[in-house]
Amino acid sequence: TLPKLPVFEAIARHDPDSTAVIHSRSGRRFHYGELLGDVAKVRNRLYEAAGKDDLDGERIAFLVENSYDYVVTLLAILAAKSIAVPMSPAFPASELQYILNHSEALMLLSSAKFAPKAQEVLKTELDVEPTFLQLDKFQGGSAHEKITLGKPDPGAAGMMLYTSGTTNRPKGVLIPQAAMTAQARSLIQAWEYTAADHLLHVLPLHHIHGTINAILTPLFSGSSIEFLFPFNADALWKRFAAPFLTPDQSYDPAVREKITFFTAVPTIYSRLLATHKTLDPEMQSATRTAISPAHLRLSISGSAALPTPIKRRWAELSMGNVLLERFGMTEVGMALSCGLDVADRVDGSVGWPLPGVEARLVDVDTHQVIEKGQERDAEGRERVGEIQLRGPTIFAQYWRNPEATEKEFVESKDGKGMWFKTGDVAVRRPVESAGKSNLPTQKDWARGDMYFILGRRSADIIKSGGEKVSALEVEREMLSLPQVAEVAVLAVPSGKWGQKVGAVVILDKETCPENKWSPLEMRRALKDRLAAYKIPQVLRVVEHIPRNAMGKINKKMLVKEIFSDEFS
Ligand code: ATP
Ligand code: MG
Repeated sequence: TLPKLPVFEAIARHDPDSTAVIHSRSGRRFHYGELLGDVAKVRNRLYEAAGKDDLDGERIAFLVENSYDYVVTLLAILAAKSIAVPMSPAFPASELQYILNHSEALMLLSSAKFAPKAQEVLKTELDVEPTFLQLDKFQGGSAHEKITLGKPDPGAAGMMLYTSGTTNRPKGVLIPQAAMTAQARSLIQAWEYTAADHLLHVLPLHHIHGTINAILTPLFSGSSIEFLFPFNADALWKRFAAPFLTPDQSYDPAVREKITFFTAVPTIYSRLLATHKTLDPEMQSATRTAISPAHLRLSISGSAALPTPIKRRWAELSMGNVLLERFGMTEVGMALSCGLDVADRVDGSVGWPLPGVEARLVDVDTHQVIEKGQERDAEGRERVGEIQLRGPTIFAQYWRNPEATEKEFVESKDGKGMWFKTGDVAVRRPVESAGKSNLPTQKDWARGDMYFILGRRSADIIKSGGEKVSALEVEREMLSLPQVAEVAVLAVPSGKWGQKVGAVVILDKETCPENKWSPLEMRRALKDRLAAYKIPQVLRVVEHIPRNAMGKINKKMLVKEIFSDEFS
């Protein structure tokens, strides 16, 4: 019998013959009917391997490729009432070692493909001795188990996810099952996942985005999830086009379902846009149809700020499919999002707190809550505040790190629970000034003033001569210039100003064939776009800007590397 987790109840209610998971490349498909059967099998294998059937609260780490087997493994760990610790096969052994030690993993599971990698890590000197279990490859076809439901245990932790490690060593974030469910419910309400949706997922799965947005929420809704991994722009365009090519058009795809739901990070959209130009005309036209609003119901961007030019170019290419931007983090799941109505996707904004999420801004200078109507100070300047969040979607604690947990939560005055300090800063603007006057009000949550992220408090707010500059705002403007292909704006130490604005750019090969751009040319190009104090004072042209798997930059490290001469 499987425990009475809402996700299992939902799966048991879906049509057993409808598709739960598809492997893009092989065309293999797995139905809702076999999913719970396979989950029960793996859960029993866990008990066998551990030599006991009480695994409550134990951390079970796993290395499995993006596939049906990944979904089964994740759910089987939940079914055992253990804590799932997904690991990325792309991590070097040292990182995997860190996670096994830090999470005090009782078991390490792997697919056949990653067994050598798992063995390699187990051979290193570890502080723990996890039991190793190589999982069978699931061919599907398990009998649909008639499930007798056990007791619910929503307070128990369900997952431990590690943060992206953009600013420091990854932190282990303990997420209760109840928060996982609340996150899925919130997204279903806001983004309206249904059984008619067909999701395509091209990103790693060991983040909140993979586990919640791409696995749990679709499973709650009865949608089908298709994995195409690792990301490859050509393969992805072909897959988008598949349902729109006629049989005489040479390419023979394994899967032809129409993709209705796609979520990615800005760098993926940027690479898709760049590759689209190289496709042949037939493919260009089929893909444009595929991503048009009539077919692709929702295309979402998050994890890092969406540059406005990428958003504009995607909307042009897709004949009006405006990317929906959202803001999320490991600790809170998805927290803010623009709305389903296209008019609710204002450039540069991450929208409103999602259903069930409560948000507030706390002034970074005065530490006062910025109440509605107080968005500007006495001189009329916008007040910058840290985003703080609370509600049932928020995580419980950082694993084995009570100091960090204590530091990041603040007591509330109204007694309705603690606020979590996200470390990200934002301004709130009435939507009129954001370019809209008539906001559709059919959605309760997508109303009122919108949030605009300025960046991380620790790395994106540059304090220069008493002014605050948002690195994200400068990046957005620079990316609108034809010369700039990629950019990172950084806080460079300055004897005179405290900090000065520094820019690291990759130049566009077509507009700058000699790969040269002078600070003077840059200043001229930005003169009408940015206030003088926001224009970068130092500029470096580079060939590569290092990013992690989610397309994020560790700015503290990058600034020391590139502007090493300015640190003395
Ligand atoms: P670490 O906490 O280990 O330094 P990380 O914060 O990058 O890494 P995640 O939890 O994966 O780890 O990412 C959350 C962060 O991503 C947010 O705090 C925010 O800075 C950034 N982010 C997410 N969505 C957006 C968005 N739409 N715009 C700007 N930033 C975003
Ligand atoms: Mg973080």
